[in-house]
Order: sequence, then structure tokens, then C-alpha cells
Amino acid sequence: MRLKDKVALITGAGSGIGRESALLFAREGARVVVVDVDDEAGQETVRLIRENGGEATFVHADVSRAEDVRNMIAQAESMYGRLDILFNNAGIFHPKDGSVLETEEEVWDRVIDVNLKGVFLGCKYGIPALLRAGGGVIINTASFVALMGAAVSQIAYTASKGGVLALTREIAVEFARQNIRANALCPGPVETPLLAELLSDPARRQRRLVHIPMGRFARAEEIAHAALFLASDESSYVNGAAFIVDGGITAAYITPE
Ligand code: NAD
Repeated sequence: MRLKDKVALITGAGSGIGRESALLFAREGARVVVVDVDDEAGQETVRLIRENGGEATFVHADVSRAEDVRNMIAQAESMYGRLDILFNNAGIFHPKDGSVLETEEEVWDRVIDVNLKGVFLGCKYGIPALLRAGGGVIINTASFVALMGAAVSQIAYTASKGGVLALTREIAVEFARQNIRANALCPGPVETPLLAELLSDPARRQRRLVHIPMGRFARAEEIAHAALFLASDESSYVNGAAFIVDGGITAAYITPE
């Protein structure tokens, strides 16, 4: 088991990448703190883990609220005695997030609050817990859009993910000698509820698909496996990386016909 005896906290673990990671981490021996703003979804993840013989607990938190984030870390430590793996994965995609010319300030603020401030708060309150455990691992979910621009813009989302990438690098450097590794996971487009509406439109789907060398979107479990590698000791010398899992999108100039 690759995470035996580890305590892992995953935000946004009620759905998509977070849920698949929670299930996988539990199968690999971790005790998982499942965090989500959606109680029903988070509790369902816990049920699925326990059904498979794993150990998990649900904690409600909105990652954009400092009080909630402080509480989720405290709950993890009080339930399991320590925190080894902090996976700041929760994120949103706002339907009204578009071109810089049209995106409303409220949309910008909400997306930045959840996607970027949420990661900042997770690290702010999570790192002291990792230090108390003698070190640990941070995985922050950015995106391939932190590295590339798109003509079909989601300006707040893209800016938030660029921020996550930069923030993660800085943390990786600052805490490297205190036995903490921090990496930014950069998935390409994944078939999860986050993109469901967008990808249900055949034209918008195709507009994206042509840029993916592999000719398909990722499955959440494929991203979870990358997160598992980053969480485990197998990645002991991987620190400060933009860990790209995108089917070759960022490598491509012209994709196969
Ligand atoms: P998802 O919508 O399937 O799951 C996200 C989960 O986060 C949901 O359960 C939701 O309730 C929870 N959540 C939302 N706001 C929250 C908040 N304020 N506090 C706590 N929990 C909150 O999404 P997903 O596709 O699994 O995305 C997970 C992460 O991966 C996000 O950060 C997303 O930006 C990133 N990502 C997704 C894709 C993709 O194509 N799906 C690509 C690159 C990066």
C-alpha cells in the first residue's frame, strides 16, 4: 500500500477528481478526511470508501472561508492525530466567466475566492499541521490553463489557476528544508460535473477536442492516479513542479487529423 498509515485531507472530495482521489488514497491505506461544501456528496464519498473497507470522515467546509478551513484542519488532527497529505482540490467553474471584456466583477471575485484564496487558506492553516507531523505533502490543483491561453476565455478561472501555480512554487521553495513538498497538479480537460454543461454542447466539445493529441478528455481516475504519485513517497524528489497530466495538449502545435 502506497499511503499506509498516512492521513490525507482532500477538499472538493464530493465529486470528480476529488472523489476519485479519496477512493484511491483510501484503497492505498490512507485515512481520508473528505471535505466539501456539499454535505450529501461528501458523505456519499465517505460511504463509498467505508463500503470498500477504507477509513474516512466527512467535514463540511467552504474553502473560501477562513473559519471553515481552520476547522477542517483542526478536525483532521483531532480525529486522526496528524495530517500528512493536504490536497487542495476544490474549485469552481462559473458559467458567466468569459472574456475579460464581459466578465462581471462578482464572478471574478467568487472564482478567485474559491479557486485561489481557497488554496491560500488551505496552505495557511494546513502547513502548521504538516509541520507538527514532521513534514508532509501538498498537492494544489491548478490546470493546464495556468500554462496556456485560449481564445475561448474563462478569464477568472485561468487567472485563478495561474495564481495557484505561482503560489505552489513559492511554498515548495520556502518549506523544502522542513520536509514539505508542494506540487501543482495541472490536468487537461476532464469529464467531471465541473465541465458537464460545457461539454454537453457538441460544438463547444469539438472546439476543445481538436486540440488534444490523444483525441479524448481525461477521466477523473487518471488524474487521481497522478495525485497518488505526488502524495506518495515515490515522488520524494518532485517539488515545486507543474505536474502536467493533459494527454499531450501542452506539447502540441498541430494535432493528428
Ligand atoms: P467537480 O465539480 O466534479 O468537483 C468539485 C467539488 O468541489 C464539488 O464536490 C464541489 O461541491 C466542491 N466545491 C466547490 N466549491 C467548494 C468550496 N467553496 N468549498 C469546498 N468544496 C467546494 O470538479 P472537478 O472537475 O473534479 O475539479 C476538481 C479540481 O480540478 C478543481 O480545482 C478544478 O478547477 C480542477 N480542474 C478540473 C478540470 C476539468 O476539466 N474537470 C481540469 C483542470 C483542473
